[in-house]
Amino acid sequence: MYVTRIQEADKKLRDRCMASAKRLYGENLPDIVKVRLDRELLAISQCNHATHYIIAAAMADCSLYKGCHITTRGTIGSSLVAFFSGITEINPLEAHYRCPSCHYFELSENKSEYDYVTGYDLPEKKCPVCGKLLIGDGANIMSEMSMGTDMRREPDVIMNFSPEVIQDVIDALREMFGKDNVIGAGVSVNAEDGTRKTGVHPGGIFIVPAQVEISDITGLRNDVRDDGIHLMVTERHYRDMEKYLKKYDVLPKPELGVLHEMEITTGVPVKSISMHESELFDIDNTDEKNSFLIDGPDWKAFGIVHPQGFIDMVRMFGLAHTDFFDGNGDISAENILEAKRHGIYCRDDILETLLRKGCDIHTSYTIMNSISRGKGVDETAEKTMHGCGMSDDYVGFCKRIKYLFPRSMMASYALVNWRMAFYKANYPQEFEKVMSAWNRKEE
Ligand SMILES: [Zn+2]
Repeated sequence: MYVTRIQEADKKLRDRCMASAKRLYGENLPDIVKVRLDRELLAISQCNHATHYIIAAAMADCSLYKGCHITTRGTIGSSLVAFFSGITEINPLEAHYRCPSCHYFELSENKSEYDYVTGYDLPEKKCPVCGKLLIGDGANIMSEMSMGTDMRREPDVIMNFSPEVIQDVIDALREMFGKDNVIGAGVSVNAEDGTRKTGVHPGGIFIVPAQVEISDITGLRNDVRDDGIHLMVTERHYRDMEKYLKKYDVLPKPELGVLHEMEITTGVPVKSISMHESELFDIDNTDEKNSFLIDGPDWKAFGIVHPQGFIDMVRMFGLAHTDFFDGNGDISAENILEAKRHGIYCRDDILETLLRKGCDIHTSYTIMNSISRGKGVDETAEKTMHGCGMSDDYVGFCKRIKYLFPRSMMASYALVNWRMAFYKANYPQEFEKVMSAWNRKEE
């Protein structure tokens, strides 16, 4: 594996993270912030992963400079380093309050009160020191979700951008690494009839490190991605290429473009949208207000989960993807209610339940991984789970799961949809106009 090097990547990443940590939490960082940030930065430095974070942050900067927010899907989005370096908007700390003015910080001693609740769901509260309205933050995501229990896992960099800025993002990478060193991930398969089919991965980008002569690894050809981006693309299949080079996924997500245009049209910045507008999801009136969500399985989950706040939106996105359950590939009301009963919506839920029941982190993580990828519960895992007091019912349910997303990705998507719902409810005519313009572009 050849790795692109950025000079002083560790220092650049640390400086960037410290600057935003201090901006949000003050000069004297709360212990929980400092300890976690130091632990993650040390692990990233020891594994030489800082470059991946700097590249992801540079892409995020480019998009934000153009006024477009981003979402992050890969494991990179689950760390505090990713949050402080601007790769994700999802703060992975435990639910807490922070004061935007005097940096007062409050983390509840009473865990049960905050359990399974994101900081966005905390009731409104004023700062006891300066009286300003506190910000609720934190989506309860452990560092291990990003880095593994040995803290050595290489992050998957999978990021969504507004289609309008993808060319700019790729140009920014070209500027950083040289025009010819940014190449597309090719797809090539030998079809049964002996012919060779080629294509381009929808988002995959490789960056050729300075020490590598790309022609030693693969031929290149000119090609066009589904989103119209022209690139030199690897002749070899991208999975083959991943043995040599790191793949970064730069994927289009039209909703991010819609949000950007709604910001311009209404003058209401995305970031100013309150997270306490649960009346947006008036279930009795869903057809009108939430029709953008009424799209296949999403809608079904929406009607059954009955979102009351942000955490329910997060849960809904966990349930709504088509691969949750084995066998039916669909989300029936029974399955959703069963998931609710067991409190399983994402990978993190299983990990947290096992830890709470006293299982050690390594075993919990292994069991979570197996269940989340549809590999079920083997005999040893079943014994462990029963030993921790988990019911046959719970274990049986875990065996049926085909795939679970990480919470960071669901939270990222829920945030986009929360904001879409806000604009749609408050500026219906403008929303309609922007949406129909986007739909025409899509065609
Ligand atoms: Zn304050």
